[in-house]
Amino acid sequence: MGELFDVVRWHDSTCTMQTYARKPVMFVRGEGMRLYDDEGSEYLDFVSGIGAVNLGHAHPAVTEAVTQQISKLVHVSNLYYVEHRAELACDIVRLLGGGMRVFLANSGAEANEGAIKLARKWASETKPGAFRVVSALQSFHGRTLATLAATGQPGKQEAFAPLPEGFVHVPLNDIAALDGAVDETVAAVLLEVVQGEGGVWPASAEYLTAAERLCRERDVLLMIDEVQTGCFRTGPAFAHQAFGIAPDVVTIAKSLANGLPIGALVAAEKVAAAFSLGDHGSTFGGGPVICAAARAALAALESEALGANAVRSGEYLREGLSAVGEATGAITDVRGLGLMVGCSLSTPIAAEAAAALLERGCVVNHIGADILRFLPPLVCGAAEVDTLLATLSDVLEGAAS
Ligand code: PLP
Repeated sequence: MGELFDVVRWHDSTCTMQTYARKPVMFVRGEGMRLYDDEGSEYLDFVSGIGAVNLGHAHPAVTEAVTQQISKLVHVSNLYYVEHRAELACDIVRLLGGGMRVFLANSGAEANEGAIKLARKWASETKPGAFRVVSALQSFHGRTLATLAATGQPGKQEAFAPLPEGFVHVPLNDIAALDGAVDETVAAVLLEVVQGEGGVWPASAEYLTAAERLCRERDVLLMIDEVQTGCFRTGPAFAHQAFGIAPDVVTIAKSLANGLPIGALVAAEKVAAAFSLGDHGSTFGGGPVICAAARAALAALESEALGANAVRSGEYLREGLSAVGEATGAITDVRGLGLMVGCSLSTPIAAEAAAALLERGCVVNHIGADILRFLPPLVCGAAEVDTLLATLSDVLEGAAS
């Protein structure tokens, strides 16, 4: 551990709110899938800032776009036109197949908060009395009060009561439960295609199709939270596109600007029209630097065909994890879509396993006591997966002995 790191740790422990259990490493540089700590040690990154650096670290196109724009104009607010904002909105609408409008915010929680507001405003005009949002147990939609209320994890909510009213939770992939919950008081159903923070739990194709049908039949908005699944992480630009469903609202964040803070609320034209002048706003959202970064990031994700690589490498990783599971008996379940991959361990050693992996140069996230989550940059190839699997195999064998 370097001297600088000691000083940083001390200041962090005395001056920052202690809401994170930080891992004992300080990263100072990154390139592609590789991270470097303050002493120059190299790591393979299977977290990518929690799925927020899909292109990999220090992508030259994003660096160039940010550098150009930051030296020209940083901020004037949404009261004025700027370069890159409308162009980015057009890029997002195109990737979603057209017929939608975009509101730019600063994070996933903000995008979802905006979606909840939009659903309520839309319902107040078209379905008086409807205001509830149905979401899934184990979901994660953010940390603001409304998005926390939408998040289906009671453990994260309890200390913050009373939360805003109007949120109902149902078990994921239980069509009958969704059917029962979507009554005339419901304005929207909000779902992740793969629950990320909750433990990498994919929604089934039948469930997503049924959710769309129920929403159509009952005039309820289908809102898909693509904060973690979006930006080619699972293969297509947005994960729901693989299931042939057409949500009324899509929220995006994380990797949209390859690691810089951004969120986007996207809604079908007729739904977006519910927001009138002054209904929603943001000082920083849609600023020219972040929008330049996002345009460059989306262009590079497309031109480098990283969605296709996410599918290929994701399959390879899941197969490899299953093989490690068979060899060690330490993995009970492997799941995911594209390069959003999770596995359950047979014993509650996920934190210890992640710590041992970090010591050996693989950055991996653990969820709860027994789940490992893998969200590498989409440039991840077979060689990096092979290194991870060999290291994980050693770690799990070591834990068993
Ligand atoms: N929605 C999903 C599906 C997420 O995974 C997250 C963050 O992990 C959020 C919303 C919240 O995003 P943010 O942390 O940018 O507010």
